[in-house]
Amino acid sequence: MPTPAKVVVLPQEEGVLEVIDLELPDPGPHQVVVKQYASGICHSQLHQMHNPRVSPVILGHESTGIVLKVGSEVTHVTEGDTVLVTWVPRDAANTSRVPNPVEIELPGGDIAKAGNVFTWADTTISDEQYVVKVSPDINKEVTAIIGCAVMTGAGAVEHTAAVKEGDSVVIFGVGGVGLSAVVAARTLNANPIIAVDLDAEKLKFAAQFGATHTINASETDPIRAIRELTTDPDKRSMRGTPVAGADFAFDCIGLKQTMEQIVPAVRNGFFGAEPGGTAVLVGVPQTTVELNAADILVNEKKFIGSIGGSCSPDRDFRKYLEWYDQGLLDLDALVTERFSIDQINEATSALENGEIAGRAIMVF
Ligand SMILES: [Zn+2]
Repeated sequence: MPTPAKVVVLPQEEGVLEVIDLELPDPGPHQVVVKQYASGICHSQLHQMHNPRVSPVILGHESTGIVLKVGSEVTHVTEGDTVLVTWVPRDAANTSRVPNPVEIELPGGDIAKAGNVFTWADTTISDEQYVVKVSPDINKEVTAIIGCAVMTGAGAVEHTAAVKEGDSVVIFGVGGVGLSAVVAARTLNANPIIAVDLDAEKLKFAAQFGATHTINASETDPIRAIRELTTDPDKRSMRGTPVAGADFAFDCIGLKQTMEQIVPAVRNGFFGAEPGGTAVLVGVPQTTVELNAADILVNEKKFIGSIGGSCSPDRDFRKYLEWYDQGLLDLDALVTERFSIDQINEATSALENGEIAGRAIMVF
């Protein structure tokens, strides 16, 4: 029996989102139907809205919900289970099957597609690999942002970069993803933790979440400020001057300018005695970059990417829920705005205009 659902659809031609009532099919063998409590609203969806499309698109990739129906081959969840939905396969290391993207038929016959999942809907259907079982006692709203923002930011620090106690860390862009990176850096006892943004309110927020220093890049040259904060007289450079620059710099935005800034923001290495710093790209880039290859070569710096924070949701989501319970990850503060599904165009405009201090969610 089909399941009724209210779904946000991005038409192929226009950028205005529509909320459409339709029917979801019964789950295929590896699919799960989830009635949702809340979904996050992420910058990636803005990119989708601005890029050309070959079909109508269904969006959103982080949520909380309860399982309504499961396919015949699904064993890790059952009807009534509380779950988080995410866009990273929950157990890719131990699964040979590639999860299937989802398509749904719109009234009128057009097919709307998602690359992996869609959570801008009161009810969704997805491959079981994107559905993570959690305790029924979780906060059903704010934990919706674990499935992208928290995983991407915290995972980049913890897994991709493997930041250790005492490492110096710079985070460019402190929205939902960047703040999650700040929290992970603090939890792992990095020091200093330097937040860089153009928005004074976001920087104040970052300090509350554990940033030890903040730099407003609209007022100060961030590279010079970072170098001043991270000068280490005990480390050598090729020129014999004290080494300056962070051990790790994370770009949680993905703009050309910030992607290029994270390389000079990290420190120089020294001939096998000291490795250079690591620049980590976390935000989704929309352009290519021009990097100073000589700086990377001579100073043995690394420029690496982090997708979904190198997370394995089955392993990591439980931990992020524990961080929330322990007060380390203040999701109640991180979720700063709530919208209904009918306010979705208002929500995306607010995000576009920089009016969301932390992360916005849609509550169903
Ligand atoms: Zn996202």
